[in-house]
Amino acid sequence: MSKITLGIIGGGQLGSMLALAAKKINIKTVIFSDDKESPAQRFSDKFIYGKYDDQQKINEFVNEVEIITYEFENIPYKTLNKINKLKPVLPKPSVNRIIQHRLAEKDFINKLNIRTTKYISIEKKSQIDALQDFLPGLLKTTTLGYDGKGQYLINSTTDVKSLNIDFSRGYILEKLVKLKKEISIIITRFNSKKYEIYEPIENIHENQILKESKIPASIDDKLLQLSKSWAIQISEELKYIGTLCVEFFIDRNDNLYVNEIAPRVHNSGHLTINAYNISQFENHIRAVCGLEQITLKKLSNAKMINIIGNQITNYRNKNFTKNEFFFDYHKKEIKDKRKMGHLTIICK
Ligand code: AMP
Repeated sequence: MSKITLGIIGGGQLGSMLALAAKKINIKTVIFSDDKESPAQRFSDKFIYGKYDDQQKINEFVNEVEIITYEFENIPYKTLNKINKLKPVLPKPSVNRIIQHRLAEKDFINKLNIRTTKYISIEKKSQIDALQDFLPGLLKTTTLGYDGKGQYLINSTTDVKSLNIDFSRGYILEKLVKLKKEISIIITRFNSKKYEIYEPIENIHENQILKESKIPASIDDKLLQLSKSWAIQISEELKYIGTLCVEFFIDRNDNLYVNEIAPRVHNSGHLTINAYNISQFENHIRAVCGLEQITLKKLSNAKMINIIGNQITNYRNKNFTKNEFFFDYHKKEIKDKRKMGHLTIICK
């Protein structure tokens, strides 16, 4: 039996599903979170509540575990780096440093000759006047944005003037891609050229929040192969250890673009729990803890529906068939736009 205790920074639904997957393979978990109500504490062996810059709490956490990973990418780089000096943090903090900054992330991807949408760094409001080439576009904060937070649709330069945007923060302006489809690839890298890769997942977003994911994605073989090879190239270049998600756009001319990279398990991969022999969560644990790599086997096609805000109330009172798997994230407070749970339906 394994003696490893894994530390997980962050205690949301991804932390919960990581802790559950760890339990299945006899890995103990300690969750460290700055949210007292973290749902993941229901599933971990231990829970430590503390701010991410509280050195005493960090020490307490580090002393309890052998290896550390994280469920979200916005942990301050300083904190991750400090922790990494005491116990190994995987994926490496340097990976997180690139990916938590939209500009550094896009520069990194372009250096690999992988296509992204056209983008430019914006530091002041006056710059927008000269940026017709990037419009219509999305103005995004370079850091700390997710699920459409910190994003503004800009159709014309006058739009910027009417929005009350705080330009003391860094921004990136991305040209809007005329979307035909969005897909993602989940890959778990164990070591140099050793990885397990899931088939492309097709994603539907509403108001910039993921609403549904399904496999198989309805894309042709060329896009399937190209998306996989870009995900492999990115994870090799980062010398990544663990599960990573690459999100892609496909435009109306079937051009593929990388939208962003998530250095962690990902919402679109929840269906891997029921559709594969090994889920993205278990694979992440296996990779970061240096356990055996098991060949992936697909068990069925699947569709996942995110349950957002007060939709959860209906689901909590529903009966499910044997092909439906309901996951309640047990969040204390129901909030508009908050991911409260998901339903996976397996199908032939
Ligand atoms: P993000 O937080 O950057 O992943 O954006 C969330 C969602 O907003 C994406 O999945 C797309 O549906 C949409 N989106 C973001 N950036 C663009 C873009 N440059 N062009 C078209 N749609 C976008």
